[in-house]
Amino acid sequence: MTILSVQNLNVHHGLLQAVRDVSFDLAKGDVLALVGANGAGKTTLLRSLAGAHLAASGRITLNGDDMTAVPSHQRIARGIALVPEGRRVFSQMTVEENLLLGKSSGRTGEWTVNRVFDAFPNLLPRRHAKTGHLSGGEQQATAIGRALMSNPDILLLDEVSLGLSPLVIDRVYAQLQTLLTSGTTMVLVEQDLGRAMAVASRVICMLEGRVVLDKPAKGVTRDQVTKAYFGLHREGTGRAAS
Ligand code: ATP
Repeated sequence: MTILSVQNLNVHHGLLQAVRDVSFDLAKGDVLALVGANGAGKTTLLRSLAGAHLAASGRITLNGDDMTAVPSHQRIARGIALVPEGRRVFSQMTVEENLLLGKSSGRTGEWTVNRVFDAFPNLLPRRHAKTGHLSGGEQQATAIGRALMSNPDILLLDEVSLGLSPLVIDRVYAQLQTLLTSGTTMVLVEQDLGRAMAVASRVICMLEGRVVLDKPAKGVTRDQVTKAYFGLHREGTGRAAS
């Protein structure tokens, strides 16, 4: 069953068109790795799905409902949660207080504070600590947990590994694995192709705002994705190999 449908989406930053005619559908439980070089348009696409940046044209539907013009706070209530780049937690609030903010969407479901602590056990002893005092990995887990507390139909994760040490990234990805087994539908923007492809069921590569590769993760090689990443692929939207 299709949860999210994106049709011919175009998103601008002033005169610059950052997302060009992007279309894809996601079914329940899909984990989409959205990859591409710096400036390819991944963050802009994610933000437009979350309503943080409205599309110039095209259509976004969630469970069949048109979301294209719905403002971001209402999209959370409708089931789209974004974990933005940079682990934006409220540093003066405790882990638990940050998590409880996620409940303000009013959505109910399996994700409760205790369930988040089950999925991210490293947070439990830090429950009453101010997030400003936490490590980068703990802050990232708090940010993901807060998004999960809104019991989203779809979770959008922007560069969860940015600025974290390899060891901590391993831990965050091990925790994401818990989400994968629980059937959470996700879009994961990730610079690290290996990690992204290891957890994803589907890979979309963007280049200069366009989708230049869209394949099941099992049916694509790292070499194919790398070529698409650098614009050296032979298929897709017409960019020929040099
Ligand atoms: P990165 O991995 O560097 O975050 P990205 O693939 O997420 O890259 P975007 O951040 O979406 O790409 O940027 C796409 C294009 O839009 C780039 O050319 C970027 O310079 C431009 N852009 C992004 N944000 C803004 C903004 N707030 N104002 C103007 N241009 C922007």
